[in-house]
Amino acid sequence: MGVNYINYNEAVISDYDAVVVGSGFAGSVVAREYAERLGARVLMIEKRAHIAGNAYDEYDEAGILVHRYGPHIFHTNSQRVFRYLRKYTGWIAYQHHVLADWYGTYMPVPFNKNSMEIAFGEEKAAHLIEKLIETFGDERKVTINELRAQDDEELSEIADFVYKNVFLYYTQKQWGQTPEEVDPSVTARVPVFISRDDRYFQDEYQGMPVYGYTKLFEEMLDYEGIDVALNTDATSVFDLEFEDDSEDAKLSAIKLHGQAFEGPIIYTGPLDELFLSRFGRLPYRSLNFVYETYDEQYKLPCGTVNYTVTEDYTRVTEFKHLTCQKSDKTTIMKEYSCSYDDPIEQIPYYAIINDENNAHYERYLKLTESLDNFHPLGRLAEYRYYNMDVIVGLALDLADKLIKQAGEAK
Ligand code: FAD
Ligand code: UDP
Repeated sequence: MGVNYINYNEAVISDYDAVVVGSGFAGSVVAREYAERLGARVLMIEKRAHIAGNAYDEYDEAGILVHRYGPHIFHTNSQRVFRYLRKYTGWIAYQHHVLADWYGTYMPVPFNKNSMEIAFGEEKAAHLIEKLIETFGDERKVTINELRAQDDEELSEIADFVYKNVFLYYTQKQWGQTPEEVDPSVTARVPVFISRDDRYFQDEYQGMPVYGYTKLFEEMLDYEGIDVALNTDATSVFDLEFEDDSEDAKLSAIKLHGQAFEGPIIYTGPLDELFLSRFGRLPYRSLNFVYETYDEQYKLPCGTVNYTVTEDYTRVTEFKHLTCQKSDKTTIMKEYSCSYDDPIEQIPYYAIINDENNAHYERYLKLTESLDNFHPLGRLAEYRYYNMDVIVGLALDLADKLIKQAGEAK
């Protein structure tokens, strides 16, 4: 049958039981669950010309499957999430490997025992590895901040090396800030790993959807009762009503086609944009992607190379490693990070988590708390740094809650 695409202007709003804004993992999982388990009708509104949010992939001119909004590798320890997604796709058992380009020498990231030998030479590394094991234990993960906090000369030598050669320049490029300035949870995503395991993730379930992410979304949204309106921006079609005229006035209703919508509204876009940035824009980092295609089998030794001490771009990804696609050509993608200044031209990829920005976000969130049927969900609407698996888990939780509420209301 395929996804049922409709024109928003022709949608009869009273026909729908729920409205979902955004077709990424957050919106798509809730839409499918709500439609399938309740036999309900769901209207999905998506401002882009395609579904799948930032996980969107497509074939480029050379016939290579590429990710258009950053490299996406699925990994999780949640059996529930993995099982759920298996309903819509098979998986290629891909395990992601990342190398840091250290002045032309490749070194595994996360920095581990093998990286240590490359950085310090085998003999010295053997001694330093002993020291790390004595202090933290074998096969343990230690954040760069924990390592730097150690009061020991040899551990400080390792910490200084990793800080200067893995974190400092990459973080400055990615965030426009030093590792000290970014939230500790950000650098903690890539700890020092006292191990020979060169994989980027150690999660139990890892892989890539056999036919790509877009196909996964097409399967998920191909369900009677789900209608998808592309090229439709909620900020243009939602008519917001407030309790009064004050700046902090709370939301009292959302009207679509002139009618207050009473069913659940699941909103996965940026919250500040919904309120036309009345308290100022929430800060994000954006990205620019530069693609290059070569008449070669492979250009890189693994899926991603991080440029931790040189170059203006942060990392380069070669998709064929991720997707296991066979071709005489290959496409790589360089990532350049930049500030997010223009909501029309740019995409808000990363929330910049810190106390001030979180408080700024909370002020927006408060405006929505008065409207019981409004549910912000996802990386943008919650202003968080979530991986795909976490979003799928949260979307399943929200769907359970909404379905229970709908059952109780009957
Ligand atoms: P999104 O995928 O961003 O979907 C939101 C959707 O809402 C978009 O389609 C958007 O167009 C739409 N929208 C926004 N505003 C409006 C509006 N006003 N009206 C209508 N529609 C609107 N996670 C992993 O697990 N593994 C990875 O390897 C990984 N790599 C990543 C690499 C990069 C560069 C980035 C930025 C993220 C990465 N992630 C990764 C995280 C992953 O992208 C997110 O967890 C996931 O996309 C979040 O899903 P979402 O539905 O919340 O948001
Ligand atoms: N990081 C770094 N050097 C690296 C890898 C990561 O400094 O080689 C830091 C950087 O601040 C980055 C953060 O760790 O933003 C999280 O890295 P991750 O690979 O998880 O970022 P994502 O894939 O989400 O962009």
